[in-house]
Amino acid sequence: MKKYVGWFTVLCWLCWDEPATAQNMQRVRQNLDTLCSAAFGGRGYVQHADSVAAQWLAKQFSVLGLKPLPQQSSYFQRFELSVNTFPQPIKLQIGRRKFRIGEDFIMHEASGSSYFSKLKLCRLDTLWLKEGAAQTDFLQKDWTKTAFWFGSATAKLLLKQKPDVLQKFKQAGAWLEVTDGKLTASIAKEANRPPHFKFKRALFDSTARTLRLEVFAEQIPHYQTQNVVGYVRGTAQPDSFLLVSAHYDHLGTMGKTALFAGANDNASGTTFLLEMAAHYAQNPPKYSIVFVAFAAEEAGLLGSKFFVENPLVPLSRLKFVLNLDLLGTGDEGITVVNGSVFTRAFERLQQINDQRHLLKQIKARGRAANSDHYWFSEKGVPAFFVYTMGGTAAYHDVHDTATQLPLTAYREVFGLLTEFLDTVP
Ligand SMILES: [Zn+2]
Repeated sequence: MKKYVGWFTVLCWLCWDEPATAQNMQRVRQNLDTLCSAAFGGRGYVQHADSVAAQWLAKQFSVLGLKPLPQQSSYFQRFELSVNTFPQPIKLQIGRRKFRIGEDFIMHEASGSSYFSKLKLCRLDTLWLKEGAAQTDFLQKDWTKTAFWFGSATAKLLLKQKPDVLQKFKQAGAWLEVTDGKLTASIAKEANRPPHFKFKRALFDSTARTLRLEVFAEQIPHYQTQNVVGYVRGTAQPDSFLLVSAHYDHLGTMGKTALFAGANDNASGTTFLLEMAAHYAQNPPKYSIVFVAFAAEEAGLLGSKFFVENPLVPLSRLKFVLNLDLLGTGDEGITVVNGSVFTRAFERLQQINDQRHLLKQIKARGRAANSDHYWFSEKGVPAFFVYTMGGTAAYHDVHDTATQLPLTAYREVFGLLTEFLDTVP
C-alpha cells in the first residue's frame, strides 16, 4: 500500500506543478465532481455539508502551498448565521398522484413545517385580497386544514396584504404556488409561513380536492460556518494585496433526495480559484495575493460581509478584488460587474482580450449587490465580479450539475484574468 501512496503523492505533485497556462482540465473536472458530489451535500447547512467542503478546501490550500495569513493560526475565519433548512424527507401528494421534490416541486425557502398530513385543497379566491364582504367572511373562517393554491402573480399580492389578512393566510395548512416558470430555490434565515410548495403548472390537476404532505423545517439560529483564507507572499511589495474570491457554499439539500449541486454556482468559481492558487503558488506575483473561498453567499452575501467587517488584511492595502462566480460557460463571453465603475481597470481587461483574442465579448455592468465583490466596492476597494455568459439555463435548481457544465471558455478566462492580475498597477 505504502508504495502506491508514495507514487500517488508524486503524481499529484506533478499534476499541480504543471504550468497553469496549459490548464489541467482533468484536474478541474475532478475538483468540480468532488465539490458537486453527494458527500458535499450541495455545500449547504444540512449535516454541516458546507464544513465538509471547507475542510476539503483547506486541505487543497495546504497541498498547493498557500499559507494562512500572518497572525492567523488556520485557514478558517469563523462566523455564524441563522438559516432555515429541510433535513427530513419531504412528501407531497395531490389527489392520488405523488410528486418528487426538486424535479416536480421545491419548498419556498421560508417554508415552515406541516402540522396535518391531509388538507383540503382550495383555490385562493382573489376577492379575499380586497377589502369587502368576501374578505370579512374569509377572516372569520378557520383555514388550518386547508391548502390554498394560487399562481405566482397572486403569491406576490399575498405578501403585500395588511398584517391581519396576511396572518390569516399564514394560518392555512399549506400554500401551493403553481408556477409556469422554472423552480428556482433560495435560502432564508427563518421560516415565516406554512409549507409553501412551488409546483410546476404542467403537472397540476386543478380538479384535485386533497393534498397530503409531510414537511419539517428546522431553523438553526446560530449555525457555525467559515470562510477559507490562504495567501501567497508577494515578491516585491508583500504588504500590498490582490484578493481573489469565490463562494464555495450553495443551497444544500431539500428533503433526502433533492441535491442542489451548484456546479456553475459556484463550484466553477471555486475550482477556478484553486487553479489560480496553484498558478500563483508557483509564480508568486509582486504583490501578495489572498485567496478567499467565501461561505454563506447564497444566504445573503454573509461570508464576504463578515470578512469586510472583520478584515484579515487592511482594506486600504487591497489593490484589487477579483470575485469569481458562475464561470462554467463562456460561449457568449463574460460580464464584469463594476466594469463601468472602475473604468481604467476595465479598459485594461479589454486590451488584454483584444491582444490575445480570448473571448467573444466582455460586457461591463454597473454596481450590483449580486455576489461577494459588493461589500468591497461599497467600501471603496476596486473590485470586479466576473461571470461567464451563454451555455446553460440551469440556475439554483437540481439541474445545475457537473456533467451538464461545458466549461467552454475556462482556459481563455484563466489566461485573461491572470494577465489582468499580473498587470494591476
Ligand atoms: Zn453564486
